[in-house]
This record gives sequence, structure tokens and C-alpha cells, in this order.
Amino acid sequence: MTFFPLFHNTQHLKALLIGGGVIAKRRAQALIKAGIACDLMAPEVSEELRHLVEKAGGTVTFSHYIPGQKMQGYDLIIAVTNNRSVNHQIANDAKALGLLINVADLPNEGNIIFGAVIDRAPLTIAINNGGTSPVLTSILRQQLEQFVPKAYGQLAKLVGAYRPRVKAALPNTKDRSIFWHRVLQGPLAEAVFSGKHEEAENLLQKHLIELDSGLDRVMSNGEVFLIGAGPGDPDLLTLRAFRLLQKADVVLYDALVSDGVMALVPEAVEKVYVGKRRANHSVPQEGINQLLVDYAKQGKRVARLKGGDPFIFGRGGEEIETLAEQHVPFQVVPGITAANGCSAYSGIPLTHRDYAQSVRFVTGQLRSGSVDLPWPELVVEGQTLVFYMGLKGLPLICEQLIKHGMDKHMPITLIEKGTTQDQRVLVSDLTGLPTIIEVEQVMSPSLLVVGRVVSLHDKLAWFRSSRDS
Ligand code: SAH
Repeated sequence: MTFFPLFHNTQHLKALLIGGGVIAKRRAQALIKAGIACDLMAPEVSEELRHLVEKAGGTVTFSHYIPGQKMQGYDLIIAVTNNRSVNHQIANDAKALGLLINVADLPNEGNIIFGAVIDRAPLTIAINNGGTSPVLTSILRQQLEQFVPKAYGQLAKLVGAYRPRVKAALPNTKDRSIFWHRVLQGPLAEAVFSGKHEEAENLLQKHLIELDSGLDRVMSNGEVFLIGAGPGDPDLLTLRAFRLLQKADVVLYDALVSDGVMALVPEAVEKVYVGKRRANHSVPQEGINQLLVDYAKQGKRVARLKGGDPFIFGRGGEEIETLAEQHVPFQVVPGITAANGCSAYSGIPLTHRDYAQSVRFVTGQLRSGSVDLPWPELVVEGQTLVFYMGLKGLPLICEQLIKHGMDKHMPITLIEKGTTQDQRVLVSDLTGLPTIIEVEQVMSPSLLVVGRVVSLHDKLAWFRSSRDS
């Protein structure tokens, strides 16, 4: 038997649940939540279920099902007794009366089944598994729950209210479809998802005014998403980052964004490499800032993907400063910064009650051959130091730390390509690591972590990359 999902108007729908167990309760909850009037019949009913039904205005009859009894006046019968032959009898009686009938666990006994529902009222997504695997449906439902923003229903409500006006302004169906595609994937939707309803409504009104000058005017509204791509493992991308990447027109990415993350960008999206490597800037920063503005002004949805978090040694601030000056709408999506990713994937907690009460992120970038840092502030007990961009300056960093009083046997680690299948963790101390680096071919990106917490690596390392085997 195949099941076609139809959406039933719940108004004036009356249901009779026959059975008083766990499934009866689950069904009653779902039906009542959907606004369906619900009565219940069973010889024994828990107080909770009875309360649920009666509170919603239904009646509870304490009785076994007697064939042919009491179905008139109902549209929907749910057979959930623990007796198969009784359920079978109920199904036959209901079908004879032409009613909708659902039999728990036996989809083919009745004529309707219940799908798993993702509720974003007034928008609902129902999953129909044709009566095959409820667990599979439930897994799929959980996945969809994560990917469909909670405020989708509010978005549906808002645009539903404006449909007639848009229809009047754009009589042509194709134009309307272009308009709604644009609007529903633009800043308006994002405003609703971030709880800014007034802003969303204002935007919609603005679009309606723009429509007076034609559809092209609305289409010229671009925006920028400044997105943290995380340290490498694509699973570490946030749900928001993933969602925005799916609706971008163009993605500007740099060298730190991993191939795994790029693989999540839909094929049709234009991809522009604006990567930078030390002393080898393929597009200068000002050029990138301007590119973002230019694309957005062409009406494009631009995703600016940056490694790690855009606001940690990422110059993300500079990029959106230009956008703000040029009045281009933007939003910032945080990413897992290298320190967090490398710490987790190497089993080195950045703080620990016994070893470090604070953590400091420092740039180890060389400037005219030296690392210019407030060394005395860095040589403090109980503090973990994380050096970004410290690979080239590593010998200098170790030397300066020792010179300013740090124990020369302080543990230090270099984490190469953290969180990826190529991750390598080299652990030593301030005197040993520079020598190791001379021998080992270490690649960028690499992160340095200095502090007693590093000694926990031996015990807590859990992630195995292809290089650990
Ligand atoms: N915005 C980024 C940092 C950019 S600076 C973030 O939040 O992570 C670039 C430096 O980040 C690199 O030199 C390196 O020190 C560090 N880094 C980035 N990704 C890394 C990774 N997967 N493994 C190790 N270090 C990484």
C-alpha cells in the first residue's frame, strides 16, 4: 500500500481513541496539539491521559470496545488497544462506516498513518515512511529539526499576510516567484530568524515600495555573510554557516578554508579565491573589502568564508567596517577558532583547575625579523599561551619566553593542520621544540600551545589522524 501525504483541516474534526496505553497518550497529545477534538475509550486509563483528554474538552469512557459501538459522529478512529484482534475489529467497523482509521503498528490494517511532524506552525513538514521504519523517520526528523530554523513559521505568517499586496503589485506569476525567492532568501528571512520581527516587516514594506520602480530594484539588494569556517574539519561548521552557504550566490574564501568545508558549498555557487599566505597576498586586504562591496551592490548574496573565527586574527573587523561604511547589510557567523579546535582534537584543555586559570591568544607573527610582544605579561604562572601564526617565529618565541623567566622545561606543543586527517601533534619543551622543528617538515597552518596543560595530551588524546597510525 502506498500512502500519500494529505494535510487535513482539523476544524470540526472529531477523533475517538480506543486504548489507554503509551501510544494512546502519544496520539492524544499530537491530536490535541493540532486542535482536534478527542474522546477516549479504554477500560483503564492513567490519570495523566484522562486529564489530558478532559482538559481539552474530550470525554473518557471506561469500557472495552464493543463491536459496532459508538463510532457515529466521529471522523477519525485510532485503534491503539493492546489486542490485535480487537484492533482488527475496530478497523473493519470504521472502514464499513467510511471513517478514517489508524491502527497502531499495523499501517495496512487502517487507511491512514501518522507521519513524523516538524512543527513550524503554520508551516508543517510531515514525513511519510509508508509504514516502514519509525526509527528511520525519527532520525530524519531530528536532522530536519536542526536544519529548519525555528522561526520558519513566523516567516510563513509574515509573508502570508503580505501575499495579496505583492500579488496586486506583481500580477505576473513568474515575477512574483522571482520576488519571493529573492526576499525569502535575503535579509528579511535572516531578520525573522534572529527574532527581529519589526525589522523584517520594515524590510518587506521597503521592498513593496521598491516594487514601484520595478522588480529590478528589489533584485539589486545584496548582502554579505562573514562566516567562520572553523579550523578544518567540516563537521565543525555551525548550522547557520551551513545554511547561509546553501543560499549564497558567490563565496569568497581564503587559504585556511579546508577542502572539506568547500565541498559543502553547492556546485552552482561562484567560488572566488582571495587567499593570503604570508608575504604572498593574492588579493590585498583593501581589494577584498572592495570586492565584497562590489558583489553585494550587484545584488549578490556574498558569503565571505574565513578560516577559524572571523574575529580572531582574521581581519574580519576590517572587512565589515567597509561594508558598514557603504551601507551593505551583513551578518557575522562565528566559527570555531584554531585554538578551540586544536585544543579539543589534541586532548589539551586550555584551562584546567590544576594547571591554568587563564588562557591568552597571541599572534606570533614576525615583524621585520622579530616577534614584538609584551613578554613579561606572557610569563605568568597558571596561564596557557596560544600562539597563532607562530611557526616561523617559534625559535624566537621559545628564546624570549625563557629569557623572561619561563621554566625552560615548560611543555610546548605544535599542532599542525589541527582537526584534519593530516593533524600532527609535536610535544616537547621550550628547549626541545625548536630542534624538533628543524628536523621535521612542519607545514602551515600550525598552532603553538605553551603551558602545563600540554602535559595532559598523553592521557587525553582521543583523535587519530591518518598520521597517527
Ligand atoms: N581566524 C583564524 C586564525 C587566522 S590566523 C582562527 O580563528 O582560527 C592563521 C593562523 O591560525 C595560522 O597561522 C595558525 O597558527 C592558526 N590555524 C588556523 N587553522 C589551523 C589549524 N587547522 N591547525 C593549526 N593552526 C591553525
